[in-house]
Amino acid sequence: MSDTSTDEPVLIAGAGPVGMTTALALHARGVDATILEAESADRDRSGSRAIYVHGSTLRTLERVHPGLGKRLVDDGVVWPTRHTRWRGKQVFRRTYDSPGGDGEIPHFTSIPQEWTEEYMHEALDEAGVEIHWEAEVESVETTADGVHVETADGREWEGEYLVGADGGGSTVRKEIGAEFEGSQSENSFIIADVEEVEEDPYPCERLFHYDDPAADGRNVMLVPFTGGWRLDIQCLPDDDPEELSSDERMREFVSSVMGERYADNVTWVSSYKFLQVMADTFVDDNRRVLLAGEAAHLLAPFGARGMNSGIADADEAASAISVAVDARTEAVARDEVELYAARREKAAQYNLEAAGQALEYLQGDHPVPVLRKEVAASLADQFEVAGEYLDDAPYGPHGTPPIVSTGNY
Ligand SMILES: Cc1cc2nc3c(=O)[nH]c(=O)nc-3n(C[C@H](O)[C@H](O)[C@H](O)COP(=O)(O)OP(=O)(O)OC[C@H]3O[C@@H](n4cnc5c(N)ncnc54)[C@H](O)[C@@H]3O)c2cc1C
Repeated sequence: MSDTSTDEPVLIAGAGPVGMTTALALHARGVDATILEAESADRDRSGSRAIYVHGSTLRTLERVHPGLGKRLVDDGVVWPTRHTRWRGKQVFRRTYDSPGGDGEIPHFTSIPQEWTEEYMHEALDEAGVEIHWEAEVESVETTADGVHVETADGREWEGEYLVGADGGGSTVRKEIGAEFEGSQSENSFIIADVEEVEEDPYPCERLFHYDDPAADGRNVMLVPFTGGWRLDIQCLPDDDPEELSSDERMREFVSSVMGERYADNVTWVSSYKFLQVMADTFVDDNRRVLLAGEAAHLLAPFGARGMNSGIADADEAASAISVAVDARTEAVARDEVELYAARREKAAQYNLEAAGQALEYLQGDHPVPVLRKEVAASLADQFEVAGEYLDDAPYGPHGTPPIVSTGNY
């Protein structure tokens, strides 16, 4: 006999940004859901993850929980200046006098993912959505009528639908037999968070520095967010990322790139080789399980498509499920879930290609793009467009997936 602990029609695995947005987007559509989260309520979610939140994501969050998008805007940073340097010399700098976007939602905001998650969590409390902590999903079985889930604490759960938002190592993905396909970046990247100083802060601008002499010729990116800076150093092919990310080396990097006053302010360092993968299917055979966010795809962070596209998945999954739960025929319910898969698989494919272009631009050694960068740098003094190319290219194309979507990514 199962100890079923909820009457909600929809189960969500994972209380990351994607699982929480799914629950909010379902609630906004009048569908109740419950979240099963592996970790405990007092977990620590600090660390270098998403900071760049696109305007379309802010609009989605504002739509599903009025006030949430604006709260991220109020507490985030919109840097006014884009700045690019080439081997110590400025090649592009532009300052905007408006944050862009429409109405109260700017073009983007920059805020630590930990804060975004905290605000989502508070929104769930307001909406009365429950998170079951320490409820790690271990097994998933589906039939034509619904889903049966077992969690590590011995409980069993029944739902009409399950959204797998349980991150890159997703158990739900494995349980439905889906597999990641794709590639990994060649070089490593070191990513550090650096706390802001009170006196003489670094100018509030997004900086990309090609072959920065202060980092022994490595590419360096600096991005402000509320309370600090994201420092991103691209390793050279022969670098040992562990040695480079040691406390002592990070002190040296931060001092020479940002100034001595930042030397003791590193709060987090990690090194990555980025995966560029997506699941071979986003839904199970019975069309009762929908994968969303990093359970469905992992993207290199250039262009900031990871959490942003995961939140678009969440909104679309909620839209599909809200129709499917009320459908009068099984075929219509299946169609909704299949449409979700078709749209979000296409979006993931597009986002993978876009993030892949940025990766290729940053670490590829094909002579044509290498020469193009050199030529652009040599022309940047006379032609602003050459400097703008260098400023833009590290983030990949700006386009959004070519599908009609509630969120853009
Ligand atoms: C350095 C870095 C910078 C980034 N910058 C950006 C950026 O600027 N913009 C952007 O859009 N994205 C960015 N990203 C990506 C972003 O952090 C991720 O896309 C985002 O966290 C994915 O959210 P998610 O909810 O899918 O997964 P996660 O955040 O991984 O959440 C998954 C949740 O599921 C839980 N879980 C796991 N297994 C189970 C289980 N079996 N049962 C129940 N619960 C489970 C986990 O504990 C967790 O709470 C960045 C990532 C990195 C590493």
